[in-house]
Amino acid sequence: MASNEDNLKDVVSHAKEYGFVFPSSDIYDGLSATYDYGQLGSELKNNLKQYWWKSMVQMHENIVGIDAAIFMHPTTWKASGHVDAFNDPLIDNKDSKKRYRADVLIEEYIAKIEAKINKDVAKGFKRFGDDFDEAQFRATNPNVTRRQAQIDEINDKFKTALEADDLEGIRQLIIDLEIACPISGSKNWTEVRQFNLMFSTELGSVAGDASKIYLRPETAQGIFVNYSNVQKSGRMKIPFGIAQIGKAFRNEIIARQFIFRMREFEQMEMQFFVRPGEEMKWYDYWKETRIKWHNALGLGEDNYRFHDHIKLAHYANAACDIEFNFPMGFKELEGIHSRTDFDLKQHEEHSGKKLRYFDPELNEHYVPYVVETSIGLDRLFLAVLSKAYEVEKLEDGTERSVLRIPPPLSPYKAAVFPLTKKDGLPEVAREIMAKLQFDHNCQYDEKDAIGKRYRRQDAIGTPYCITVDHQTLEDQTVTIRERDSMSQERVHIDELNNIIDQRVNMRTLLLK
Ligand code: ATP
Repeated sequence: MASNEDNLKDVVSHAKEYGFVFPSSDIYDGLSATYDYGQLGSELKNNLKQYWWKSMVQMHENIVGIDAAIFMHPTTWKASGHVDAFNDPLIDNKDSKKRYRADVLIEEYIAKIEAKINKDVAKGFKRFGDDFDEAQFRATNPNVTRRQAQIDEINDKFKTALEADDLEGIRQLIIDLEIACPISGSKNWTEVRQFNLMFSTELGSVAGDASKIYLRPETAQGIFVNYSNVQKSGRMKIPFGIAQIGKAFRNEIIARQFIFRMREFEQMEMQFFVRPGEEMKWYDYWKETRIKWHNALGLGEDNYRFHDHIKLAHYANAACDIEFNFPMGFKELEGIHSRTDFDLKQHEEHSGKKLRYFDPELNEHYVPYVVETSIGLDRLFLAVLSKAYEVEKLEDGTERSVLRIPPPLSPYKAAVFPLTKKDGLPEVAREIMAKLQFDHNCQYDEKDAIGKRYRRQDAIGTPYCITVDHQTLEDQTVTIRERDSMSQERVHIDELNNIIDQRVNMRTLLLK
């Protein structure tokens, strides 16, 4: 599995070639940072949603799901703080005229030092093998401790500037660290400015501020404003959760890196309402539960890490990210935030409606505290696709492109082939397909030699290929070939559904 920028380029072109992801409005040369999911991409995306929904909503008796509108009353965004504070600090390079997020420039600088430390650690491993004591090495190796001290110092200054909203301090840090524009190498920077990320539009036919509404920048607020409706109509008892999958929109300053950062994307969020004072217990619970959910996908436990936020958002009393080792390095995949009672209290204040819970055990009313899990569906898609993609060298010296997508997520679960187009083989193949289709998404293919058909299915991640030949007409057996091992077995037609189900049923992920 390659893990570098080349891998990203290969993944992007593979995704386009096979109908997973296309640039949006491709015939007009695309629209920056906007993508369309193709015929196979939407299957994979739906399967990812299903894995999340099943595990978060249907397998938790105290979590329910909703589907709120994208447009919301404009006061929602005043109350949530987005109108005043949903900003990113931007900086322009005067020579290249390229625009950057100032905080990201600093974070990337830190990541480069971290990479050097990790390189030294890897060398240590190589040299000392099993005797290598990583913790001791990190604590005593002069190169590592010097670099770590450098990181700590930058982080301290960065945090102080962020907390004080000191834009000049952030700019000074970029100048002091001699950070250069990655494109031109120039260090000629403008001042840092705040930029609000919300898209606005007008409701109805009246222009002007009164009718200004926003495209939601997160799905969470659709949950908060429905807290009371759901709690009452669903007779929910604390602790309980409300989940939602839906589109969100952010006018990102720079949106690069394929579907990692888009201006229109999809989130899967869950707000868990708890007793005040119990939020840290639930924060730990959700950290553990979510990482377990990720690990079940089998993309490699080393590819995930927790990263605590260095600056907490105004509403949070604890927050971390689950970062994933994307082709461009470790980046945020999911956020887990303890949001206190901030949102509900703000909505109480702005709406004048009480958003309380009567706790019969404590015999008191309170505004619940909230622990949120928030994952970007498109980032999850990229995580799966980039780790699944492999160009494998085979024993006979040839190569095959294979997508080792976890089988329950694969767009097609099986492909059915007649060996030839004659002698009644296509009819039998279609009969098999017609039976399997009730439980599994299947594809029929009769074109080209069998080897070529196998390659096509490997390239789109289909776990099983079933071939009908002349022997099938005599004894009702077929060949079933497995994607990863490429092993083939002769089985009776009646066994097919079971064999496929054992590997592709969502249960196999949910039970892990
Ligand atoms: P980042 O720091 O990368 O901008 P964020 O901290 O602003 O992300 P959150 O507000 O915590 O992100 O949103 C929750 C999740 O939504 C993120 O973990 C990410 O997976 C996803 N997400 C956020 N912004 C985008 C985007 N522009 N494109 C795709 N996914 C996104």
